[in-house]
Amino acid sequence: MSIISPVTTAKLGLSAAILVTMSGLTGCNKADTPAKEVTTEEVATQSPAAANGETITPASTPEATDSQKVTIYSSRNEQLIKPLLDQFTTETGIPVELVTDKPGPLMARIEAEGANTPADMLLTVDAGNLWQAAQKGLLQPVTSEVLDTNVPAKYRDPAGLWSGLSLRARTIFYDPSKVEKTALSSYEDLADPKWKGKLCLRTSKKVYNQSLVASMIEHHGAEKTEEIIRGWVANLATDVFSDDTSLLEAIASGQCEVGIANSYYYGRIMEEKPDFPVKLFWANQGSTGTHVNISGAGVVANSDNPSGALKLMEWLSSDKAQGLYASADKEYPVKQGIDESELLRSWGDFKADDINVQKFGELQTQAIQLMDKAGYK
Ligand code: FE
Repeated sequence: MSIISPVTTAKLGLSAAILVTMSGLTGCNKADTPAKEVTTEEVATQSPAAANGETITPASTPEATDSQKVTIYSSRNEQLIKPLLDQFTTETGIPVELVTDKPGPLMARIEAEGANTPADMLLTVDAGNLWQAAQKGLLQPVTSEVLDTNVPAKYRDPAGLWSGLSLRARTIFYDPSKVEKTALSSYEDLADPKWKGKLCLRTSKKVYNQSLVASMIEHHGAEKTEEIIRGWVANLATDVFSDDTSLLEAIASGQCEVGIANSYYYGRIMEEKPDFPVKLFWANQGSTGTHVNISGAGVVANSDNPSGALKLMEWLSSDKAQGLYASADKEYPVKQGIDESELLRSWGDFKADDINVQKFGELQTQAIQLMDKAGYK
């Protein structure tokens, strides 16, 4: 299977939308919004913490008006997503307020604000983070034919608590001056002693690696996965990196020959430096497929405007938004049949792992413990 197939993407125009930062949030409170009937008690019964399996359809919330503001708590780059949010406001008349921070602080804030949170939607990266938010009871389940149609089931929470909106591949990168492409095959093979002193890895503290290892546990079981991780650690050329960009630059500078990173970090570098001396290799094409994760969103459990939040999620999954949302940060569209950038096309088609990304959350704790046990810092 290819996650890529070409379709023309409409160019979006720009218009004004409300954009505030954390410091501007004081202007946003419940008094700005009409009274609503979704009470704290009701929200509690809708939350996953209640574990009653009840699903609501925010679109049917009668008190939410079309012009009611949607407040997003987002860990995504403001500059990248603002043009899209502006377009949404132009098309729907729904203003959007954006609060930007890292995923952990955003979740802590929604939790601390409780019933008084201004947040309607959590927009973040990695299924592991969205799963965490769902586990904490911060999100409410939605039913949406639009999301069901636009987003393949493996990139959505089965209970409707969150949905993917773009895809990123975590794959192998290498120094072509030292490594023959034919020597590469899989994440698992990077544990082979032939890579001793040649491998670079990012820290195991990053959720991206926790999700990758979770997928390996799902495919191979804990015992074999631990063996692979021990092999990785034994092959390290240097200490683990704090970010993917430094890792890619370490391959370029000859510090290591091979490593694992997310595709969009490579895309950002390649856009700036087309001669960057590192190549991408699609991992596990002969086996499980390349590890693919999501950026995505969920409707906040205590949202004042769940119908507006769902409308925005649906809009972001649409043909008109998908190409731009994904290409804003060199990612892949989550909707099939949407064109991607020339840069991404140049990397070629690849087979993606078929695993449901929800597994990354379910197995996250086990993955963290396993990496710790195997000495992966
Ligand atoms: Fe990232």
